[in-house]
Amino acid sequence: MARIGQWAINSVIFLGLLLVVTSCNNQPTESVSVDAQPKSKKAMFNSAPDFNADTAYLFVKQQVDFGPRVPGSKAHQQCGEFIEKKLRDYSMEIITQRPTLTTYDGKQHRLYNIIGVYKPELQKRILLFAHWDTRHIADRDTKDKDKPILGADDGASGVGVLLEIARQIHLAQPELGIDFFFTDLEDYGQPDDYSSQRQENSWCLGAQYWAANPHVPGYKANYGILLDMVGAKNAVFPREGTSLYYAPDIVDKVWRTAQALGYGALFVNDRSGNTTDDHLYVNRIANIPSIDIVHMNPMSGSYGFYHHTHNDNMDIIDPTTLKAVGQTVLQVLFNELPPAN
Ligand SMILES: [Zn+2]
Repeated sequence: MARIGQWAINSVIFLGLLLVVTSCNNQPTESVSVDAQPKSKKAMFNSAPDFNADTAYLFVKQQVDFGPRVPGSKAHQQCGEFIEKKLRDYSMEIITQRPTLTTYDGKQHRLYNIIGVYKPELQKRILLFAHWDTRHIADRDTKDKDKPILGADDGASGVGVLLEIARQIHLAQPELGIDFFFTDLEDYGQPDDYSSQRQENSWCLGAQYWAANPHVPGYKANYGILLDMVGAKNAVFPREGTSLYYAPDIVDKVWRTAQALGYGALFVNDRSGNTTDDHLYVNRIANIPSIDIVHMNPMSGSYGFYHHTHNDNMDIIDPTTLKAVGQTVLQVLFNELPPAN
């Protein structure tokens, strides 16, 4: 996961203060929370397959077991081959993108974008994406800051959920075009303290490349859903600012579905600041309305305590969170099918 804009952090902190001040001066008022509503079938037209959280968890662990998936490393190559093999197992058509790109530190890296295409012949398509590379440094840690992180949540979780969705799609064979895009070089961005000048575009290099050079010329999808940091214990997914700017209807569709499935404690209605993540470029360059499901504290505007530290390991991964996200996205996909009689 990349970063949250400083202005957004400030505004979230300000709003947080405002809320604290407000709550100190006012009597509590009654509020109707969508989260509190009982499970409803209203947002569901078709029953989706049961997302298997244990399988998703295993997929997360298998990636972490390779070690940090830093571009150029052996673990990175092995993990890329692992993702390709899984997609092949699920009969997806596979396209890779391997140009050489230059990162903020002047180093050259061979990009390894992986796209698994399901039912390429169908016009109606949904794009699902997650980054699979992990950060080359632990710049938010207090020790071993120059060493790479394991990225159990920041990298492996989104991929694990997508692979389990791909497995379920292969089993169920719905009539819907789906593209599974595993982006590389998302997390090799310039650290905040590296220079005073903000280098937003140093992040998300794989998604930027793809958005300008899609795997199919003139590629279009109805919308895109990005998963980033979707596996931590006690995760919270506020409605993310960049997603709300570009694709408010998709945010609404996904959050309503999650809440109808009973996951309102995770998919909250709070709004967070704008993040710079892969979906920004898919929106901005490829013009595909895309949203980001990303763990963030809506009050502090910060990611988890483990973000870009060595604490981002399997200890923080919770299958319950993987299940909530995976089942929600599967349901959103199956809601795109004509209602079953
Ligand atoms: Zn990250």
